[in-house]
Order: sequence, then C-alpha cells, then structure tokens
Amino acid sequence: MRFRPWSRAARRWLAFAIVLAAAALQPVRSQSSGPSLPVIHVDNGPNSAAAQQAHYVVLVSLDGFRWDYARKFGARHLLQLGKEGIWAPGGMLPSYPSLTFPNHYAIVTGLYPEHNGLVANGFYDETKNARFAIADSAALTDGSWYNGVPLWSLAESQGMRSACFFWPGSEAKIAGFRPSYYLHFDDKIDDGARIDQVLAWLRLPAADRPHFITLYYSEPDREGHEFGPEAPQTRAAALKVDGLVGRLKSGLDATHLPIDLVVVSDHGMTKTEDGWVNLDQFADLSGFQTDGMLLYGRSEEDRARVYNQLKHASEKFVAWRRKDVPAGLHYNENLREGDPVIVATGAYAIRPHGPPPGAEDRPPAAGMHGLDPLRAPEMKASFFAAGPDIMAGKTVAPFENVNLYPWLAHLLGLQSPKSDGSINVLSETLRDGGDVAAK
Ligand SMILES: [Zn+2]
Repeated sequence: MRFRPWSRAARRWLAFAIVLAAAALQPVRSQSSGPSLPVIHVDNGPNSAAAQQAHYVVLVSLDGFRWDYARKFGARHLLQLGKEGIWAPGGMLPSYPSLTFPNHYAIVTGLYPEHNGLVANGFYDETKNARFAIADSAALTDGSWYNGVPLWSLAESQGMRSACFFWPGSEAKIAGFRPSYYLHFDDKIDDGARIDQVLAWLRLPAADRPHFITLYYSEPDREGHEFGPEAPQTRAAALKVDGLVGRLKSGLDATHLPIDLVVVSDHGMTKTEDGWVNLDQFADLSGFQTDGMLLYGRSEEDRARVYNQLKHASEKFVAWRRKDVPAGLHYNENLREGDPVIVATGAYAIRPHGPPPGAEDRPPAAGMHGLDPLRAPEMKASFFAAGPDIMAGKTVAPFENVNLYPWLAHLLGLQSPKSDGSINVLSETLRDGGDVAAK
C-alpha cells in the first residue's frame, strides 16, 4: 500500500457511499439557514445552560501541511493568525506513524495511535479477525475500532453540542456519542461551501449552536504525494488552503462570538528516495497477513523466523520484535501493530510484496510520510491558533500533538479524562494559564 491516506480508489468508493448514505439517511431536522449539504443531524438535545456560556473552538486540519510551508511558501493568512495568537515556528510533532488517520485521531483523543486504536490507515485486528481500512465505510463508521473519547464525544457527554465537517472518527459512534452534526466524507464537496456550513452552524440559535467544530481539507497532502513537497503544484495548493483559512477567519470574526480558531496539520511530507523496497526479497512471508508495512505472523515460530531474516537485511529499515520497539515511538503494545515491526530509516517506500510476475508496477509516489518524526524532521506538522482565550504574539517550541487534547478541552471549559497529553505543555499560551478554576 502506498503512503496515500485517501487513495483514488478510496475517494471513488466514498463518493459512491455518500450517494447511498444520502438516500438512506433522512436527517432528523434539515438545516434551514445553511447551504444544501448532506449534513446528518443527531439530536443530542440542546446545549446545557453552562455550555451556552462556554467559548467556541473551530479546529481546522490542512492535510500534509508541512511545518515549514507557511514561511517557505508565504502563507500570509496562517502567518497572520500566528502573529495575532500563537504558532509553532519549529513545527508540531506528529505521533508515530506520521499518517493521516492515526494523527487526526491522536489530536482529538490525546492518545498515541497504539492507545487510540488507529495504528495505521489500514491494519488487521487478530482479536476481531477483521481489517480496518479507510476505504471501508462499514469499518469507518463502526465505533468499536476506535478507543478514547474524541473531543466531540467529550463535549456531547458534558451537555455541549459539536459539529464535524469531516474528521477521522467523526462518522462513528464513539464513547456513546456522535457529533450533533456531521457529514460522510466526500472530498468533492466545495471548499467554500464547507466554510459556509461552519458559519451557518454558528448562526444557529444558542441552544442548538455547536461550540466545538472541526473542518478538514485534504490539500496540500494530495499534491505533496503527486509532485513532491518542493513542487510548484504543492506550493499552489498550500496557498489555496491558506486563502481558505483567511476566508474562514473573516467569517468567524464577523460572528462576534468568542471563538478560538486552531489550525493544525496531521504530518509533513518528504521526497521519496529510490524505488520500492519489497520485504519479501529478504524474508519468506508465506503464512503472514500483511497490511502496508505491518506484518502479522500466524505463530511465534513464524514471527521469530521473519524477524531474524529482516533484522540485518537492509540499511533502509529496522526490524524489531514488537515488545522491543523503542519506547519513544509508543508502538510496542498493541496487537494491531503486528510482529515483527518494521520502521523505515529514511524516505523509503516499503511494502511486503511486489506485484505478481507480469503485472504492472507503478513507481512509488514522489512524496511520502509515515516516518518517525524524530528521525525525519520533514514529518513535522503545523500549528497556529488565535482567539479570546489564547495569548497574543507567542511562539511555542515543537511539542507532541497528543498535548492538544487537554488544551482544546480547556478552551471549551470541558473536563478532560486522563490521556497521553498534558495541559502543562501549552499552558503558557493560555490567557488563564490553564487554571481550571479560572474557567
Ligand atoms: Zn498523505
């Protein structure tokens, strides 16, 4: 599998799924003031009196917006947002593996992928004897694949309404809740219409108005893969989404609501080195289930054998028995990670098998991600935020993205459960210093 979180097949499949879903799902109540989009409304009741007093958070993700794109490409709206509030000029550290689903879900749960359940964009679960794949809408909408309490469920459980204009996990019922408003993923939905919908949500009556809102754009990840991180097409895509952030910011300002706008990305991008690395040229993988770089042996004997075949096989990857994966990667205690675990040492496109003899093989994409961000700084993500609860004109040193969870919960005045993140990491960016009593 290529390092493409939204492959062409996935996009086509999801486009088809949305047609079915739109036909099958009658929204409980239609949006009266918003654009005509297939928004699904779940009636979780009105905002509590306390929630109505809370501030708002709009969390935007620009997929694959590498930490240095804003300055490198002159993304003036993002840089302005950072100037008004805070930003991470040295980038934000994604969790390993630096892939789309694991990191979007780490941001909204405060849990490393091995704790939040999404250890990759696709993986096998031995206990379920089933696979999770982002093109499989049955898995995508099945809450049993997801651990933790995503921010929208946290908000809903505390009497606060939430809305997701796309976010990995937002189509499933998790920790007992769905967002009050959400859509099935369809990347064909117009960029501007997404912003109009967010603004329409913020015009709803106070009782129904969501306080936590997510918004997602799949660019510039797509261009980064196709053309590489330095390409003019990638620059154009980065500047396009920067313009959308500017448009959103103007719209949010015009509501005069107390909104903290937080713009992040899930990971960076690097130029792919060389061609494919096929693991089966070094090891006999017969009897193994595989998914991307993940290897699932049938027996301890198989796992030990393949580990021994792979451990000194190449400079391009390191092989570990799962229990021995270095603690800093947080990738050694979930069965879904497989065993042995393969970690690339550079921007190498690693897969278990090449195509069958005679079948067509395409070279890897020009750009890739998924690497250990400590080995490959190109993996670092972006972070910008401004609003009434956030200090102005501050910068933050690189920090792990799991720390956003308690911070975002604090902005909303929510009590957050224990996670892998800590409010202390970003407390200096908060006007109230992260003091819970002050909220
Ligand atoms: Zn990608």
